[in-house]
Amino acid sequence: MQDRPLTLDGFVERAERLSPRKEIVTATVGGVERVTHGEWADRTRRLAAALDTLGVSADGRVATFAWNTARHLELYFAAPCSGRVLHTLNIRLFPEQVTYIVNHAQDEVIFVDRSLLGLLAPLVPTFTTVRHLVVMEDGAPVTDLDGLDGVELLDHEALLAAEQPAEFRIDDELRAASMCYTSGTTGNPKGVVYTHRSTYLHTMAAMFTDSVGVSESDTILPVVPMFHANAWGLAHAGVAAGSTLVMPGPNMVPAALAGLIESERVTLAAGVPTIWMGVLPELAGRDTSALRVIPCGGSAVPKALSEAYRAQVGLPILQAWGMTETSPVASVANVVSWLADGSDEELADLRATQGRPLVGVQLRIADQATGEELPWDGTSRGELQAAGPWITASYHDDPRSPESFTDDGWLRTGDVAVITPDGYVRIVDRTKDVVKSGGEWISSVELENEIMAHPAVAEAAVIGVPHPKWSERPLACVVVAPDAELTADELIEFLDGRVAKWWLPDDVVFIDEVPKTSVGKFSKKDLRDRFADHVLPTAGD
Ligand code: ADP
Repeated sequence: MQDRPLTLDGFVERAERLSPRKEIVTATVGGVERVTHGEWADRTRRLAAALDTLGVSADGRVATFAWNTARHLELYFAAPCSGRVLHTLNIRLFPEQVTYIVNHAQDEVIFVDRSLLGLLAPLVPTFTTVRHLVVMEDGAPVTDLDGLDGVELLDHEALLAAEQPAEFRIDDELRAASMCYTSGTTGNPKGVVYTHRSTYLHTMAAMFTDSVGVSESDTILPVVPMFHANAWGLAHAGVAAGSTLVMPGPNMVPAALAGLIESERVTLAAGVPTIWMGVLPELAGRDTSALRVIPCGGSAVPKALSEAYRAQVGLPILQAWGMTETSPVASVANVVSWLADGSDEELADLRATQGRPLVGVQLRIADQATGEELPWDGTSRGELQAAGPWITASYHDDPRSPESFTDDGWLRTGDVAVITPDGYVRIVDRTKDVVKSGGEWISSVELENEIMAHPAVAEAAVIGVPHPKWSERPLACVVVAPDAELTADELIEFLDGRVAKWWLPDDVVFIDEVPKTSVGKFSKKDLRDRFADHVLPTAGD
């Protein structure tokens, strides 16, 4: 067989030769903008030439501070296909973390959306390697900003207009293509570097029917940010397959997303659970008949949420599991043929798992004390570990790397899981979130799932708080749905019988909102800080 490298330049060629008339749609403040894949590919090639003109090193880091747009997608390919490394900056990180990752990655240029320039500007003086700032106009007003005195702002469109399309040729499939930092809930974020090969293979995996099955006929709405783990591979897969892409731009409010789903006849819309919680009521009364799949991951998808979509939209949510470290998609919860005639309840339970490993990914669970591999019996719980060609082998230039890998090179995910005999992974917790009550573990994820099944609950997170006798006991932090009422006693009564008696939360606190991380997950760290001194009513027992 021919030994041809698995590199991303071939995807751009496909876009211009095989799907030139397909569209990339971007929602902007001034309305919807459309470019064809053909126009996009031409712009991408001219952008790569502009990187040469700017003097960006042959393997330099090209950073983005941007929403999901067609321009951001140009950078997704212009950087790696010209040999450089795309570095997507998470716009919601703490400022000092943005400074850390820009300097750690040694970014040479940052492409920033006009609407985000105000957020970035004060940090610009803290960047040690950045030589150019390129502004992508998105209709936001032009204003003078602190931090930018004496800094030349280049204009994305002017750069493109001055160039001819560049030729792409990457021969080494192991060359770095892009990088992304984890959101760093503890300590500084850690960098993961993807190669052309890993990205190519992950793109193929996004097209497997038994994953999310991206195809030419799809109209893809990546609500998941392009700075969050490669937009889950959908940006690459959309280009490779020749799908229509719908980019939501800066306006991420539920009504706007629901509007795009209807007006653009979106078939595949992907985002974290909190997004779909917000969007569901906005879909009421709209034509959602084009939708065929709603991939969702990043944190556990509550069964009640998936079932609510099945009831209202006619489609349950398709849960996937992954990490920045795993490119990210590693497992997807499709229902296998031999279980497909189960009851509605059984199918809902399957879809509430994190799914089965994709072809190409190996998963195992290991005893946390001994490291010994545990059986796939649906009850043995251990640390989930992953291996495969799109799973990272290390963190970029980071002394913390070794502790995250086993002696035989598997990634230690920090998730605690069981695996069923049919290969379905069920994450019961993150190692640092389990509630350790009297030497036994309570799964905060399972408890949250049951609490969120109560119709009066909008959101809920469970954390462990100190208890003199049991060392830790669960505290439920609950957001009541608008116009609903709920007391702690009613909730406990509802849970009684749904979970083991000793799992019942010792207390319920009602809060306005569950704090979220930079990528929209429940931030249990914030809750733990807030309720660190909470005295449980059972503390004296
Ligand atoms: P970060 O680690 O910075 O929060 P990632 O998006 O890389 O960002 O997070 C990966 C983690 O997210 C996983 O280790 C897991 O704990 C959690 N996660 C991802 N998908 C799911 C899912 N479907 N169910 C439960 N947890 C999930």
